[in-house]
Amino acid sequence: METTNFWQDETCEYCEGRIVEKRVTLYRKVKGEYVLIENVPAGVCMECGTRYFAANVLKTVAENIRGRRAAARKVVVPVYAF
Ligand SMILES: [Zn+2]
Repeated sequence: METTNFWQDETCEYCEGRIVEKRVTLYRKVKGEYVLIENVPAGVCMECGTRYFAANVLKTVAENIRGRRAAARKVVVPVYAF
């Protein structure tokens, strides 16, 4: 997926900081299970760290979660109740 420069000339809607593309890990709860999606291209604000995702990226993430693609590996995430 070629998204380089996608965020060029975009600014943060909160602080108007510059947005750069980074690969991030998303964390979602699906049917009571936590799911990690690694290497998701996101626009990250240099100033406040707000993350932005392109619509097609979110669509791919949703498809991954719905199981159209097999998980690359499974990680057990410990959850602590306070
Ligand atoms: Zn910002």
